Amino acid sequence: MTLADHARVLALYTEVDASIAAAGPKCDSSGRCCRFKEYGHTLFISNLEAEVLLASAPPFEQPVSRDFCPFQVENLCTARDPRPLGCRVYFCDPSYQNTGNEITETYLRRLKELADASGLPWRYAPLHEFLNEAEPRSVHSSKTAENTTRIPLAVRT
Ligand code: SF4
Repeated sequence: MTLADHARVLALYTEVDASIAAAGPKCDSSGRCCRFKEYGHTLFISNLEAEVLLASAPPFEQPVSRDFCPFQVENLCTARDPRPLGCRVYFCDPSYQNTGNEITETYLRRLKELADASGLPWRYAPLHEFLNEAEPRSVHSSKTAENTTRIPLAVRT
């Protein structure tokens, strides 16, 4: 992925966030969106999202379980800026589910179009698969989870 493609994905996330803000779903700060097994869901992401996420997310221990996200620390997301589409769109608010599904479909299609236009491969798979394939980075490097800004999951923009 080129820097321009990376910037296109981030620009698309800005549009996603604006669409969600317009829909106005309620967040009750449960953190369950990131505890996959506990709440019975799987976070699927594309290879484009994985690349953007891994470029600036904090280090994490491998192997990564499919049961929860390693970037959730004490109920906070430590990878907020590069977090994938599914993280941005997911809210528990029952009144938002149809809108959330529509936003997901719209922007997943846009991501696929971006991949096609840039001649990039396309793969859609569970988060942990991409994380376990990533080159290991020391959790003791200068950019640790301890010194990474933790943003409450409740703060949705
Ligand atoms: S990247 Fe952040 S928002 Fe997404 S599942 Fe992990 S902790 Fe939750």
